Amino acid sequence: MKFGGTSVQDSEAFARAAAIVTDERENSPVVVTSAMAKVTDALLNAFETAKKGDFENAFESLEQHFERHTRVSEELTGEARQKSFQTELDYAKSELKDLLIRVSRRSLPLSMLKDAVVSYGEQLSSRLLAEVFLATNLNARQMDSRRLIVTDDEYGSAAPIWDETEKLIKLELTPLIKAGEIPVLGGFIAASRGGETTVLGRGGSDYSAALVGAALRAREIQIWTDVTGVLTCDPRICPEARTLKTLSYEEAAELAYFGAKVLHPKTIKPAVDYKIPVRVCNSHEPEKRGTMILAETEHIPNTIKSIAHKTGITILRVSSARMLGAFGFMSALFQIFERYRVVIDVISTSEVSVALTLDNTDSLEQVVNELKRLGDVEVEHGQAVVCVVGEGLRASSGLASKIFSTLEDIPISLISHGASSVNITFVIKEDKVSEVIKRLHKEFFTTR
Ligand code: ADP
Ligand code: ASP
Ligand code: MG
Repeated sequence: MKFGGTSVQDSEAFARAAAIVTDERENSPVVVTSAMAKVTDALLNAFETAKKGDFENAFESLEQHFERHTRVSEELTGEARQKSFQTELDYAKSELKDLLIRVSRRSLPLSMLKDAVVSYGEQLSSRLLAEVFLATNLNARQMDSRRLIVTDDEYGSAAPIWDETEKLIKLELTPLIKAGEIPVLGGFIAASRGGETTVLGRGGSDYSAALVGAALRAREIQIWTDVTGVLTCDPRICPEARTLKTLSYEEAAELAYFGAKVLHPKTIKPAVDYKIPVRVCNSHEPEKRGTMILAETEHIPNTIKSIAHKTGITILRVSSARMLGAFGFMSALFQIFERYRVVIDVISTSEVSVALTLDNTDSLEQVVNELKRLGDVEVEHGQAVVCVVGEGLRASSGLASKIFSTLEDIPISLISHGASSVNITFVIKEDKVSEVIKRLHKEFFTTR
C-alpha cells in the first residue's frame, strides 16, 4: 500500500491512511509512503539555496515543514510517541544542517549531497506514519528503505539492482510480516552498493512500492493518491475526466511514460514481471474501487482509453544528405545521445532527416554541437507530447483520421504511430496543449 504526498499531507490525511491500512490489516499489508506534500520540493529548493552559499536561509526555509511534522505528531501520536518522534526530528534537523553546510562549501560531490538532503522527506514521513499507526493500534515498524533497495550510483535517478534488492526485501520483511507486524517504508529513497543514499527519481515512491510488492509476490500493489484511479485525461485540464475501471499494463506504461503523473512509469515493470495487479485508488474515497491495472484487458476495437500529455518538450531535427541510402547514420546519431546520457522520447524519420523529442535539456548544447557534425540541426523549444492510448488502437480503422480531423487547424510537429500498437503519439506547441486535450476528450469521451 503506497501513500502519495497528498495522502500524507496533514493530520487528517495521516488519520485517513491509518484507517485505510486498518481495513487491510488481515491481509498482511506493507506500507510505503512518500514525503509529506511539498516537502521534496522544499528540500530541493533548500539544496539550491545552499548551493549558492546561503545555507542559513536554506535551513530556515525548512522550518515550516519541520513544524508540519511536529503538528501531526502532536495531534495524533500521544505524548510518549510525540517525544520520541521529536528526538528523531531533532537528529534529522542537525544532520540536514550539516549537509547543507557541506553543500554551500561543496565539500562532497553535489549530486551525492543532493540525494542525501532530499531523502529526509521520506525518512521523516515514514517514521511519523509508523508512530501514527502504532498510536492507532496497528502493529507497525518503520524500516529504512536504504537497507532494502540497492541501486547503482546514478544520483537523482538511480536504477535498482533487482537480485540484491529482492533478496534483502525478502530477508528483512518476511519475518516481520510473519510475526504480524506492518513494515512502514519511505518510498523514493535507496542506497548504492557503497552505502550512499540515492533516490529513484521524482515520483519514485510508486516504483519503491512496486519493487517491494514484486519481491514479496504481493497479491496486489495499491497506489493511494488524490484522484480516483487513472482517468481519461489529466483532471486539471478536463474536470469531467472519468475513472477507467481497468487498464492493461501496456496501456498504463504508455500513459505513465507520456505524462500521466498518477503513476511513475517504471512502476509497471516489476508488476508485469511477477503478474501482480496494480490498483490506483483515492485516499479520500477509499470505498471506490479505482482503476485496476492488469496483464490483459478487454479490447474494444476503435475505442481509446485515455489521453496523456507532457509539456516542456524540445524537438531536435537533424537533416543530412548523407543519410540518403547510407548505413551507420542512425548509429552515429544515437551514440551521441548515449554519450551524454540523454533520453529520447519520440522519434520519426524520413529519407534524409530525423526528428526526435527530449524532455531533459541539461546537455542540449553539447549534443547539438556534436550533431552538427552529422548534418543541419534545428532546435524547437516549448513543445508538448500528446499520447492517445488504448488497446482498441491495435485493430482500428479510422481512429487516426478521427483524431487528426478533430485537430484540423492545429499544426502538428511530429507524429509517431505503430511502434507500440496501443498508442498514437504526436507533438504540438505547448500553448495549444490544453485546447487539444479538451477537444479530444470531448470528441472521444463526452459525446458518447
Ligand atoms: P501522489 O502524490 O499521490 O503520488 P501525483 O501528484 O504524483 O500524486 O499524481 C496524481 C495526480 O496526477 C493527480 O492529482 C492528477 O492531477 C495527475 N494526473 C495526470 N494525468 C492523470 C490521469 N490520466 N489520471 C489520473 N491522474 C492524472
Ligand atoms: N517525494 C518524492 C517526490 O516528490 C517521491 C514521490 O513522492 O513519489 O518526487
Ligand atoms: Mg506520484
